[in-house]
Amino acid sequence: MSATTPRPIAFFDMQAQQRLIRGDIDARIARVLDGGRFVQGPEVDELEAKLAAFAGVAHCVGVSSGTDALQIALMAEGVGPGDAVFLPAFTYTATAEVPLVLGATPVFCDVEEGSFNIDFADLERRLALVKAEGRLRPRAVIAVDLYGRPADWPAIEALCAREGMFALDDAAQAFGGRLRGKRLGGWGDAAALSFYPTKTLGCYGDGGAILTDSAERAELYRSLRTHGEGKSRYEVLRTGMNGRLDTIQAAILLAKLPLFEQELAARARVAGWYAAALRGNDAVVAPAAMPGGESAWGIYTVLLPDAGARGRVQAAMQARGVPAAVYYPRPLHHQPAYRDHHAAALRGAPPLPVSEALCGRVLSLPMHPYLTEAEAHRVAEAVLADL
Ligand SMILES: *Cc1c(COP(=O)(O)O)cnc(C)c1O
Repeated sequence: MSATTPRPIAFFDMQAQQRLIRGDIDARIARVLDGGRFVQGPEVDELEAKLAAFAGVAHCVGVSSGTDALQIALMAEGVGPGDAVFLPAFTYTATAEVPLVLGATPVFCDVEEGSFNIDFADLERRLALVKAEGRLRPRAVIAVDLYGRPADWPAIEALCAREGMFALDDAAQAFGGRLRGKRLGGWGDAAALSFYPTKTLGCYGDGGAILTDSAERAELYRSLRTHGEGKSRYEVLRTGMNGRLDTIQAAILLAKLPLFEQELAARARVAGWYAAALRGNDAVVAPAAMPGGESAWGIYTVLLPDAGARGRVQAAMQARGVPAAVYYPRPLHHQPAYRDHHAAALRGAPPLPVSEALCGRVLSLPMHPYLTEAEAHRVAEAVLADL
């Protein structure tokens, strides 16, 4: 590589952050090794307290992944066979997998083109259809804050309160986002976080947490993550799972937490550079501004007119060595694992046209707190090169 070749642009960059705090990470891991409490050590308690304070909620329960956070939250409500769980068709597979693992039925809802999140009117329509058919009990809504952008929580909370449904926020991509001044994690009856390495707050393996204001729920979550144990270790009160957060991962997250606010601000700055650089070309639509809400900018996704245009942009980016990704190329109701469940959930279910169209049109650009303005311009130039 010649001296003038710019360094490769990272899609997610976990090394730049690690260089800033490597000493602290090493010291914290060494303390865990010396202390020997590898499971449920004191770092887990410290992290839970700090995350609850950050999100402005009463309780945080560390768990082994974002997927297990969703699963434990639904297990605590007793969600199971005969229950309908409403969720978007345009999301990561984990959101739909969890109700199915518990024997419940996912009811896929369409999303909005502008926000990428669950379409509230479509949710209401499908809820009415489930009630009219009378086969399934409406039990829960899992709304996803896709790419870091808050879903319509005031409306979803009100609907769930009125209908006696559990409101669960899949905030796996969105920790650090805010809506009406309240952090994501504080909306809904509970929220699931993921600490997968590429998320806004990531560890060096798998990890997750559940946030809630309910003391009863938090106690159930603590029991369920440890095999349903009661007050003493060998009292088993309910069927649980092994869903704990490792002490070493908690220690790593504690080292990263002091950087988190400034990293969120840096992500928002990158989003601003992209929006300015892409403005003026009608063929590429940058994420819309959101009155009253702040994205956590977990993933930065633009919309192109159609699959052909997206293919051209992907090729132009690849030719220039600029990484890109498609989240997600297939709506969940078209996945082999889910399509029969989708067909069985509702007879004559309305189509999901926006979810299907988005899969052909979305393109995600590099997004991390250490992306420079010059790199953002190189990315934008590559996007616009053949458009
Ligand atoms: C990452 C992710 C999950 C799952 O989190 P894991 O920690 O990988 O289990 C769930 N939902 C969404 C929307 C995600 O992006």
